[in-house]
Amino acid sequence: MNAPAVTRTATELLNDKLILEKPLSDTSGQRRKRGLVLNPSAAHCLGLLIGPTEIEGCIVDCAYRTVVRKQLEGAFDAMKPRQVVQAAVSFVNRLRAQAPGDNKRCLGLAAVAPGLTDIAGRRCLACSTMPHLVGVQLADMLEKNLNLPVFLTTGSQAHLRAVERLDINAPANNMLFVFYSQGIGASLKMQGAYIRGKDNLAGEIGHMPVTDEPIPCGCGGTGCLEALASKAALARLARQAVREFAGSSLAALSEIKGDDVLKAAADGDRLGVRLTRDAFAHLARAVAGIAVCMAPDHIVFSHSISAAGDEMFQWLCAEIRSRLSGQLRDGLSISVSTINSHISSMGAAFMGLDLAM
Ligand SMILES: [Zn+2]
Repeated sequence: MNAPAVTRTATELLNDKLILEKPLSDTSGQRRKRGLVLNPSAAHCLGLLIGPTEIEGCIVDCAYRTVVRKQLEGAFDAMKPRQVVQAAVSFVNRLRAQAPGDNKRCLGLAAVAPGLTDIAGRRCLACSTMPHLVGVQLADMLEKNLNLPVFLTTGSQAHLRAVERLDINAPANNMLFVFYSQGIGASLKMQGAYIRGKDNLAGEIGHMPVTDEPIPCGCGGTGCLEALASKAALARLARQAVREFAGSSLAALSEIKGDDVLKAAADGDRLGVRLTRDAFAHLARAVAGIAVCMAPDHIVFSHSISAAGDEMFQWLCAEIRSRLSGQLRDGLSISVSTINSHISSMGAAFMGLDLAM
């Protein structure tokens, strides 16, 4: 591009307010220098997560700042695919209506679908929580209804981007992110590359076999980490054990959830501590096994694990470290993410911005 063309293009971008003029600190010479910077408010990208019981979404501006976030609860797992898409479309339209006044230019929508995602095929590949979405061309349907470019990604990939931006504050070289919830999943980045594996299956650590006990798992297998150590597993085990621990705070609850068990552990409840330690011991063994394979600089757990309290988390860290060689332990940081909501939709929007810019 020659000099007049650069000037013409810059003028057009300035007129469109996509870039701004900014005084530079270097003021030597006769003329005050001015630089051109991207206008963070010039445009935005939308992030969306469609889950079985919630839809979450956010608006992220060109400076990667989350300016709006929203959440909608509902029985989306009981709806037909068309109804799920309709719910998502009206949710996104309500989200867009909240875009700041000077930031109405939407670059597109990056969406995370439940279960396994065929990114190139723009559809859901397998999903135990919303099986009727399997094979549905979700991205195409959203694109048609929203009249926006739509990009489909996986929760695992979105989580890595969010953690890098908001927790590590820099691109990580070697990072393991563990998403601890009703299920357990992981995201891996090695030597600067985001690892997806065959069919985006890398990181499905919830289905790592950790015992020969025939404990059934939602995947159809038995003895999986998720069946022993997830929040869903903690709730199930607590319901079974509570009769023998009448003094436990958990015995007073009409319905026990995984978070109740973690909180009981944080409060020093004997049953809560016992169940959480058993679960974390399995988790530590699995995470240490992956750490041995990939040699991470960072291991980050999702914010939800902090419900167990700092003492229990430090116990988990010590269990992981005790299984690693000195060289692997040196300089390894193990932490809890500060992102307490919208991690999937924010990460997806960050990916969308990366693609657009
Ligand atoms: Zn499984």
